[in-house]
Amino acid sequence: MVLVNAPPPEMKEAAQLEPPAGVPAGPLVWDEAGTGRVVIVSNRVPSPSEQGAVAGGLAVGVADATTKGSMWFGWSGRRGEETSKEASIVLSEAGVTFATIDIAERDYQRFYNGFSNGALWPLLHYRTGLLRFNRADYQAYRTVNRAFARALLPLLRPDDLIWIHDYQLMPLGMELRALGVENRIGFFLHVPFVPPSFLQVLPPADELVAALSACDVIGFQTAADADMFLQNVTESLGVQPQRDGRYPYHGREVAVISTPIGIDAMKFVKLAERAALTPEAARLQESLSGRKLVLGVDRLDYSKGLPQRFDAYGRLLYAYPQHRRAVNFLQIAARSRQEVGSYQSLRRELDRRVGDINGEFSDFDWVPLRYMTHPVNRNALAGFYRRASIGLVTPLRDGMNLVAKEYIAAQDPEDPGVLVLSRFAGAADELTEALVVNPVDADEVAAAIHQGLVMSLDERCARHDALFRKVCHTTARRFCETFLAHLRAQP
Ligand code: ADP
Repeated sequence: MVLVNAPPPEMKEAAQLEPPAGVPAGPLVWDEAGTGRVVIVSNRVPSPSEQGAVAGGLAVGVADATTKGSMWFGWSGRRGEETSKEASIVLSEAGVTFATIDIAERDYQRFYNGFSNGALWPLLHYRTGLLRFNRADYQAYRTVNRAFARALLPLLRPDDLIWIHDYQLMPLGMELRALGVENRIGFFLHVPFVPPSFLQVLPPADELVAALSACDVIGFQTAADADMFLQNVTESLGVQPQRDGRYPYHGREVAVISTPIGIDAMKFVKLAERAALTPEAARLQESLSGRKLVLGVDRLDYSKGLPQRFDAYGRLLYAYPQHRRAVNFLQIAARSRQEVGSYQSLRRELDRRVGDINGEFSDFDWVPLRYMTHPVNRNALAGFYRRASIGLVTPLRDGMNLVAKEYIAAQDPEDPGVLVLSRFAGAADELTEALVVNPVDADEVAAAIHQGLVMSLDERCARHDALFRKVCHTTARRFCETFLAHLRAQP
């Protein structure tokens, strides 16, 4: 029997450390010998027992890369009376140090629901109409970043490489510098970036660009996002970056790079092969009664284009009646950020649209759209991906969208499904052999689902083969190696 989803021979090569052009090769980041620790800082740190339970691209991409000797610092997930002044430390069996602090309830609401998710998130996803700004929220955002810096400071060693993640922690590098930290500091943004005409809508836009410039390396998912940030450097700081993305700031040189995040592809392949045999996969299979499965897996977020996706499915059933009773669409949309108003109204809107579609097209023994708002564990999820003839990943705007990569890795290469992918997902830069669509055009998305459902086996295999090679190439590990090689190369 053929070894299913084995990496092509050249992929084995690619898994080795390959430093970016112009960067000297260094030891692997998890080889402690003489290179200093890697200290990862993110808003939410899953404890060793929660690993894999916290949904979101960052947790998946970074968890795959934490290894022996590294430290992961951030919020514990607990809200208390006061924000902790010192971190609690847990050493995992794998030798990773988890250092976490609790955040005071009053700060959390303003820092997390207020500024991070009420202002920054919509803005960075081009949704200025949803942006809610107030100064007290921004002050809490700054206060929590300062608390992170103060609690992290005593844990740092002089040769640590500090790697800060995502939009909740934009000022952290600057706060660390204010406390005298001279280590190399990197920052990676997991969401898109916007041009100055959008960023300037935010009152502290210039302050945030200046705060980020305290880091040595600033990373983005795509070259377009990096370019957008550089335009803001000119607009906000009056500095003209060089063509290679470097610019001087306060006596140091900042490097702006792009490197796409990925998954541990081979681990996911194995998960999907095994998951096809789980009780959940068997129950799904039985419930489909031989029908094809169209699958969407997302956090319930307005960036994911869910109302538009439901409309497109409605268009499919209307315009291509041969698929009625022959397909089921399962949308898993795990609830998130339910304390933020725009997420509550999105949920109500989706409830209504599901009712509209099922009311219009259901038969007494067939319900076209199944919609659930609780998460599914990763094992079952991998099996669902593998069973799906169509993976629908149609965000209006998204950082990377790891679901697209997971869907590809989970397919049976001898009978793969088809990925329908929004051109506005970060993954669309790389995954060009998917059926790439504009998510706001319901007719275009419906036509792509139809095309995928009737596509020949040869074409499906050819597209999958090309996509799988790419998913094996830009893995989570490669993402970390590339970023850290750049960080280590800074003076
Ligand atoms: P984001 O970071 O915006 O949540 P990504 O697609 O990059 O989007 O990452 C999502 C991660 O969370 C993936 O690893 C995916 O498997 C997981 N995930 C997303 N939605 C769900 C869900 N409904 N149930 C379980 N896991 C989910």
